[in-house]
Amino acid sequence: MSIALLFLDGVGIGSIKNELNPFTQFQSKYFTLFSDGGNSRCAYDGIIIPTNPFLDVEGLPQSATGQTAIFTGINASKEMGRHVSGFPTPTLRKIIAEHSIMLQLKKIGLKSTFANGYTPQYFERSQQFWSASTWVMKAAEVPFRWLDDINNDKAVSPDLTNEFIVQRGLGNVQIRTAKKAGEIIGTLLEENDFVLYEHPFSDKIGHEKNMEAAIDDIKKLDGFLAGLLSSTDLSKHTILLTSDHGNIEDLSIDTHTKNNVPTIVWGKQREYLVSKISSLLDITPTIVSSFQFSVSG
Ligand SMILES: [Zn+2]
Repeated sequence: MSIALLFLDGVGIGSIKNELNPFTQFQSKYFTLFSDGGNSRCAYDGIIIPTNPFLDVEGLPQSATGQTAIFTGINASKEMGRHVSGFPTPTLRKIIAEHSIMLQLKKIGLKSTFANGYTPQYFERSQQFWSASTWVMKAAEVPFRWLDDINNDKAVSPDLTNEFIVQRGLGNVQIRTAKKAGEIIGTLLEENDFVLYEHPFSDKIGHEKNMEAAIDDIKKLDGFLAGLLSSTDLSKHTILLTSDHGNIEDLSIDTHTKNNVPTIVWGKQREYLVSKISSLLDITPTIVSSFQFSVSG
């Protein structure tokens, strides 16, 4: 059994009555649950678990602490005494260095990979702008994937289709469909025990309150999930999707929201995951224990 964790930045469960909720404007096959309606069952027998992003700390949930919590199981907001936005601080990096999900899996003999392809330019920026996921890999000395890997169908770009790499002149890559990006994650699942993928654009679009871009992003995510779920043996593997806080589901405001986030689970261990996950803190321990559960059961 292998597990894929798809991390989307800034996707919450919003109201079905809100016209500025892009999920009411484009009917996703997967994001079918609303805070006041909809359906917790979605395509490919997925189950949506409303997940608490607050971490028992006042205020709007933020990225650095939320992502550290997702990728370690440690309550980063409590450790910091507040929600921290943006990228991990030295204290958060230390938590990740000690408790990274990839490090926990390495200790029980499991092989992880990060599906995102990096540009060399990424590492020219100061370490204070490195993502939580980058520190998650470094903690376990997992090799990075690069633009060459994207061109060889061995990595996926953060925007799924490679358009942003071309538009920003970051490298020479072919545009691909989001469906193809999903199929690539499916291939990586056959070669690794744990595959992480990160899509940060949903949060950016939410801050910009851009409905057209939001609908386009949801369409891309639907194509991506169709590619992944149709190319994966769901009797063998498990797929989870989650987010660190709400944002894109309410374009009436340019901040994060106080909504729960959707954790969507598909495949072999989905019922087990449903029984274990209710907050961001449950993601890492549940993934680690589901490997152990799988070995013993
Ligand atoms: Zn944000």
